[in-house]
Amino acid sequence: MPETDVMPEPSLAAPPPAAGTGKPLSVTRLRKTYAGVTAVDEVSMEIAAGEFVTFLGASGSGKTTTLMMVAGFCEPDSGSIVVGGRDVTRLAPQKRGLGFVFQQYLLFPHMTVWDNVAFPLTLRGVSKADQRRRVGETLEMAGLSAMARRRPRELSGGQQQRVALCRALVYRPPVILMDEPLGALDKKLRDQLQTEIKRIQQELGLTVIYVTHDQEEALVLSDRIAVMRDGRIDQFDTPRELFERPRTPFVADFLGAANFLPGRLAEQTPQGTSVRLDTGGLITARPQALPDGTRVRAAIQPGRLALCPPHDGFCTGTVDSVTYVGTLVRVTVRPMSGADTELVRLELPSGRAPAVGERVGLTADPANVSVFTDAEDGE
Ligand code: ADP
Ligand code: MG
Repeated sequence: MPETDVMPEPSLAAPPPAAGTGKPLSVTRLRKTYAGVTAVDEVSMEIAAGEFVTFLGASGSGKTTTLMMVAGFCEPDSGSIVVGGRDVTRLAPQKRGLGFVFQQYLLFPHMTVWDNVAFPLTLRGVSKADQRRRVGETLEMAGLSAMARRRPRELSGGQQQRVALCRALVYRPPVILMDEPLGALDKKLRDQLQTEIKRIQQELGLTVIYVTHDQEEALVLSDRIAVMRDGRIDQFDTPRELFERPRTPFVADFLGAANFLPGRLAEQTPQGTSVRLDTGGLITARPQALPDGTRVRAAIQPGRLALCPPHDGFCTGTVDSVTYVGTLVRVTVRPMSGADTELVRLELPSGRAPAVGERVGLTADPANVSVFTDAEDGE
């Protein structure tokens, strides 16, 4: 429990379900190769107690392998894992005190929901009375009390996944590892369970490492996201930092499907760094420590662009397409100048939708414009 100035009086009633159960976790230079293929390459990270961290990356980027090494199901070639100050690198999985939730629920089909959730406590020799209390509390927290007597096949996919979550939570592990736990569910259920996972994690102050390839899911859930590529962490940061200050073109593209506008560094101004775009216009980006004339790409997320009168912005063009996506509208603009320039993609509130064929200007706040040199990060 985090220390506060005003500690409540100790009470004989059950403590609030272990607020701040979470422990810090650190991973140092973890490495794993399979027959010459490097699956995880020198991954290091410090995770704070109670933090929700997500490994985000395409299939094959090393997310599961990293998680399995933390869990103890996969032995690292080198590197170490420390949980709550204890080196667990060589410990068996069940001795690390971590909880797991995987994409496949792996519930016992012949057991009731109650017995499924009680199972980890039975294994650990917890008394019957304590079992009743903890299973009851955990099911209630997940809104499953009414389902306690059912068997897994009498539940929906989302309910089964919640039972799996309860089973991982019931023995109050300080760290829970989840590998694409919602991957098999449809979108609506996923959204609902995301909210629930987040609520439970915050309520209990759990440390969570979560794996997904879904950017939106990562953004919704995480305090920090480790963007993985080819067994390495490209950037480990808050969703906001990743979005607003991507350190590599890969991160800019993977998280925000950024527009990359080629050009040449023009000059430093009080507003930031000016880039003369190949399409002719001048765009201002965050200040850069690069010599004038450097070939660069200015990167901007579609949601960070705005329309302005033609010739007032960094680019003037014609609206090529307008697609409504709920309250948002996706717009593409074909820059006027330059023969075969790429379309620029925008996301606007649907109330601001322009008409196809309209002549428009584009602007962006310099704080939202990143600059990458051509040398950076060929994919
Ligand atoms: P992710 O979870 O991000 O999809 P994985 O960690 O499963 O990625 O895989 C990372 C890389 O390691 C991939 O190239 C994968 O093919 C390889 N790999 C993973 N597990 C094994 C294994 N048991 N044997 C051989 N190669 C593996
Ligand atoms: Mg995986």
